[in-house]
Amino acid sequence: MKGIRIAIDGPAGAGKSTAARLLAERLGYKYIDSGAMYRAVTLLALRFDVGWEDEKKLAMLIDKHNICQNGLITTIDGEDVSLAIRSKQVSEAVSVVCKHPLVRKKLVEMQRNLAKDGAVVMEGRDIGTVVLPDAELKFFIVADKEERARRRLKEMVALGKDVTFTEVLENIKLRDLLDSSRAVAPLRQASDAILVDNTRMPIDFEINIMEKIARRKLEDKVEF
Ligand code: C5P
Repeated sequence: MKGIRIAIDGPAGAGKSTAARLLAERLGYKYIDSGAMYRAVTLLALRFDVGWEDEKKLAMLIDKHNICQNGLITTIDGEDVSLAIRSKQVSEAVSVVCKHPLVRKKLVEMQRNLAKDGAVVMEGRDIGTVVLPDAELKFFIVADKEERARRRLKEMVALGKDVTFTEVLENIKLRDLLDSSRAVAPLRQASDAILVDNTRMPIDFEINIMEKIARRKLEDKVEF
């Protein structure tokens, strides 16, 4: 029996990537970071000097180049760009690039293709609502804005970045607004998604619960 498809969505900084990666590890599934694909297109646009609003040219970049996503590793034409897609320049521009319907259409197609054999945990903003509306299991992960900002600040300080709590919090608020107010595929909880608020939840506890629910789903799916 092939494994199930698990969709994980939620706002920036809620810990979706960590949860998706750890859950996939426990289940022996592949993990796909859909945000990394939007970041890869943004990096291509920077490199080939394509404007953020030039929807057609952005879509052409996707046709011309080979973007591969496999959890922590993202490649473009075989080059490992996993670090490059986390740069400040990419982070600032990606929310504009990802709003274009043509860009989304092409990446959604690729994401569906990556999930077609099941046994996958895919993480993003619209996985449960648009990419895999028929996923066997959906989680929507949230945490208080202040808690998300505290976590992000800790990560950034560890990387040697010079930022304040207020700056990080403002950035989180802005990204929430952009993600939930865009016209195409806005961030919202699918009606059949399980809400996980991890504000005061240790990560092990969170993953244990998610794993238990996933294994139960898997049992339900077994056909005799
Ligand atoms: O998750 P991450 O912050 O890396 O996502 C980068 C950008 O891609 C964000 O602006 C987010 O809104 C967008 N995104 C999206 N749809 C997804 C995943 C990410 O629009 N499925």
